Order: sequence, then structure tokens, then C-alpha cells
Amino acid sequence: MICPCRSPADALPCEACCGRYHAGGLHLLAPGAEALMRSRYSAFVQDRLDYLLATWHPSQRPAQLDPNPAGLKWLGLELRRHTVIDADHATVEFVARHKLGGRAERLHELSRFVREGGRWFYLGGDAR
Ligand SMILES: [Zn+2]
Repeated sequence: MICPCRSPADALPCEACCGRYHAGGLHLLAPGAEALMRSRYSAFVQDRLDYLLATWHPSQRPAQLDPNPAGLKWLGLELRRHTVIDADHATVEFVARHKLGGRAERLHELSRFVREGGRWFYLGGDAR
């Protein structure tokens, strides 16, 4: 299966991309904010709610997440900018598109990431 975080021109099998961090020896060990952002997008597409919660910083983590509503189709992720602030802080600007009930929507966000104890976490984001 082609990883959902990739454009067709950049296609990679999921096990060579985000799947490495969803399970297995590198579970939860995305090496940077961009890789974590991609793996969280793929987790949204694949309803990997445990992964989404585990990569959410504990201070911001929601109590629970709902799976994708029936009929929701994710259309793709576009990474706009990865800004390294220091060794343990970074931001990623992205646009994620999905379609629900025939209506296309886009989420444009500047997300904040922090590394603690060797692991990257999603801290939160601001809509653009
Ligand atoms: Zn991926």
C-alpha cells in the first residue's frame, strides 16, 4: 500500500514511510517533526487513534478521539514548511484535504512539535 502522506510523484510503500513509526521497532520514534507530522496524517487516514493519542503531548492530549465519520475521504497532505527552532522544538505548516458528503475541505495549520525524552510530540496548532 502506498503511504497516504505522499503525493503520487513521491510514492513510497507505507512500511518504508509512516508505517515504520506506527508499529514495529521504530514505534513512536519518528526522527523529527516532519516525519511525525506525516505519520500523524497517515494515522488519521488509517484511523490509528492509539498512535494519534500517543504522539500528542500529554499536556494537550484529548481524552479520546473519534474515528473518521463514514464517507470521509482523505485527499492528501501537502507540507509547506518545516522550521527547526532548536534541537527540541520545531513547527510544520501543512495543508490537509478531505472530502465529506461531496464537499471538499482543507485544513491549513501551523503545528508545533516538541521533543522530550528522545521522542517527538505534537503540541498543538494554529489554523492559518
Ligand atoms: Zn508516510
